[in-house]
Amino acid sequence: MAPSGRRRSPGGGQARQRKDPVVMPRDDSFPHVSNELQRTEESSRRGQILRLLRAEPGLTRIEVARRTGLSATTITRVVAPLVADGSVTEKGKVSRLGTGRPGTEISIVPTSHYVVGVHIGAGSVRVGIVDLLGVSHWQSGFDFEPHQDADVVLDRVAVSVTQLIADTGVDRSRLLGMGVAVPGPVDSGHRRLLLTINLPWRDVPVADRLERMVGLPVVVDHNVRSMALAEAHFGAGKGLRSVAFIYLRMGLGAGLVVEGQAFQGGVHGAIEIGHLRVAEGGEKCICGGVGCLETVLSERSLRTALDDLELPSDVSNPFVALLSAAEADPAVAAHAEMMTKRFATGLSALVNLLNPELILLGGFLSAVPEEFVGRLTEATREAVFPIIRPTVQLARSDLGLDAGVYGGATVALDQFFYN
Ligand SMILES: [Zn+2]
Repeated sequence: MAPSGRRRSPGGGQARQRKDPVVMPRDDSFPHVSNELQRTEESSRRGQILRLLRAEPGLTRIEVARRTGLSATTITRVVAPLVADGSVTEKGKVSRLGTGRPGTEISIVPTSHYVVGVHIGAGSVRVGIVDLLGVSHWQSGFDFEPHQDADVVLDRVAVSVTQLIADTGVDRSRLLGMGVAVPGPVDSGHRRLLLTINLPWRDVPVADRLERMVGLPVVVDHNVRSMALAEAHFGAGKGLRSVAFIYLRMGLGAGLVVEGQAFQGGVHGAIEIGHLRVAEGGEKCICGGVGCLETVLSERSLRTALDDLELPSDVSNPFVALLSAAEADPAVAAHAEMMTKRFATGLSALVNLLNPELILLGGFLSAVPEEFVGRLTEATREAVFPIIRPTVQLARSDLGLDAGVYGGATVALDQFFYN
C-alpha cells in the first residue's frame, strides 16, 4: 500500500495539436425554462468546464469562457459550488499594473476528492484509490481461484476496498464512487457483468452487490475499454482525437476512444482484435475459428510456444521472455518473427478501418523493448494503405499491469465527477 505516483511520457513522439471546438455563444437566461431543465443545463455546463480543466490545467476564466462559449458570469456561478467543496481552486494573477484580476486561473484540486478503481481479472483483483487527475495513491489486491463463484469474489472485493479506505484514512465524504473494470461485456446501464470467457460467471449484478456492501455508488465497464479511456484522459493519449489501446493478457483485446468517448460497439463493447483471422490454415482457436491472432498472441498460446521451444514457460511475462530468447536462438527468432508478422496483419486491419492517431500497447506488451515497438510499427506500416502509412504510431502504455485499476477509476471519474 505504498503511495505510488505515476509519471507520464508522451507516447507517439509527434507534436499533437488540440483543435479548439467551435462553440456558439449561449444565452444564459431563459426565464420560461423549468427548474429541472435549468439543473440539467447547469450540470452539463459543469461537466463541460471540468473536462476542459482536466485536459488543460490552469486555464484562466477568460480562456475557459472562450473555449466553452459560456459567459464569465455563468462560469463563476457554475464554478462557485466546486470552489466551495474544494474540488476547484481559483488563483488570481495580479496584473503588473495592479488593476483588476486579468487572469483568474481555475484548476482542479486533484486530491480534494478520490474514486476507488477496481480491476477484476481472471484470478486476481487489484484495488486502488485514485485522485481527480488519475493518479493512484494507494493500492491493494488479492488472488482468487478462477472457479470461485462471483458472489464470493465480490464479497472479498468489498472487504478489500473497505479495508483500504480504513487503512489510508481517506474521509468517506471525499470518495465520489467506485468504478469496476470487469473481464467481459456489461449491460447498457453499466451495472452488470454479462459474461466472461475465462471465469464461469454469467449475468453478475456487480454494482448492486458492491454498493450494498461498500456504501459507495458503483459503475461497471469492460476492462479493456476502460483502460483505453484511462489512456485517453490521463495517459499517453491525452489531447488526441482518437486512441486505440491493445491489451494482451489472457487474451488479446482492444479499446477505442474517439473525442474523449469510449467506443461502445454492439453487445460486447470491446474490439475483438484477437479473433481476426491472420493466418490461412492456422491453428484452431478457442472461439471455434481458425488462424485467429489469439492462436499466437494469448497467454496460453505464448506459454505453449515457450514449452514447444524448450524454454521455461512459468515466467511472469511470456511475451517478453519469448522476445529475449529470440536474440540467441534462431528457432525462437523464427517464431517471434511469425508472431510479429501476424500481429502487424491484425493491427493493419485496425488501422485501415479506424486509423487511430496512436495505438498503445498494454498488458504484457507494455514491457516490450523499444526495438520491438519499432519493428512492429514498420511491419504494420508495410501492411496498410500507403497514404496512411506515416500516420501509424505505436507506443507502450505506461499504465503497466495496474491498467485496470486506472481504467475502473477513470470510468468512475467520468460518471461521478466529469459527467
Ligand atoms: Zn478466435
